[in-house]
Amino acid sequence: MQEQAAGDKGLIFNLQRFSIQDGPGIRTTVFFKGCPLRCPWCSNPESIRPHPEILSRDIKCIRCGKCVEVCDQKAANISAQPRIILRDKCDSCMACAEACPAHAIERTGEYKTVDEIIKVVLKDLSLYQRTGGGLTLSGGEPLMQAQFAASLLRPAKHANMHTALDTTGFAEWPALAEVLRHTDLVLYDLKQIDDLKHLQATGISNQLILKNLRRIMAETRVAVWIRIPVIPGFNDTEGDIRSICEFVQQLPRQPEKISLLPFHKFGAAKYIALGKIYPWNDAVLIPDQQMESFKRMVESCGFSADIGA
Ligand code: SF4
Ligand code: SF4
Repeated sequence: MQEQAAGDKGLIFNLQRFSIQDGPGIRTTVFFKGCPLRCPWCSNPESIRPHPEILSRDIKCIRCGKCVEVCDQKAANISAQPRIILRDKCDSCMACAEACPAHAIERTGEYKTVDEIIKVVLKDLSLYQRTGGGLTLSGGEPLMQAQFAASLLRPAKHANMHTALDTTGFAEWPALAEVLRHTDLVLYDLKQIDDLKHLQATGISNQLILKNLRRIMAETRVAVWIRIPVIPGFNDTEGDIRSICEFVQQLPRQPEKISLLPFHKFGAAKYIALGKIYPWNDAVLIPDQQMESFKRMVESCGFSADIGA
């Protein structure tokens, strides 16, 4: 898989302190930009493309015209209603983002060094120690920048930090194994056992993902939490969840728990800001009772289970 980092820098789209959803305790989560999957329910659509891009929010625009003045590609159009960026012309030069006085156009994706990131992460070291927290790498897919991910985890381990990797599992084994050498906990996404459904929804087969999970369980001692995003019309039947449980039961060792992540629409505004259509406006959220029923089923298969955020 292609390494997206530039030299000794990694491409990051967010660095979130005080995170409580990405592993135990209070953590800092580093969000890597670039993902090999194309899940249409992704709540971080800015994580997908492996290069910097612009977020454009018409509601903030004061129609000053500066973006039009600086755009050599003639991609900024403020006479349209709403104002638009012609994405097929835009070369992500970021001139408009730098010129915009209203922050209506912003850059997503920054190249950062390990030192720059670790300096921020270390600010909360005592908090991690008090709460059992630490550093989580998430995305996007951190394994698209596996060398950089390992370089980031190494000094974290030297500082006695708990480290976690939130991954789709879609990566070549050597890259994954190298990152796991510095990882205490893997948050491993399992979406669908039916390969055709997986392929149709995400754009890739699940075979490498399932194989890598078997190898993690067979060849390493790293702790594993399985995460299942429960998506309307994709994997929200008892049969879908049960088939995931049956696959996990056959692994060489068991995960510490299985988390069910309910579908939500929090990413809708970001789709618009990226010039994309949000495909889930009319989707019905999965009722709490249904999620509770799935949780009971996972528990009946012998796993510790919870419902995440
Ligand atoms: S990023 Fe550059 S090319 Fe794209 S709209 Fe802005 S100024 Fe134009
Ligand atoms: S520079 Fe910003 S505020 Fe001015 S027209 Fe462009 S998007 Fe709107």
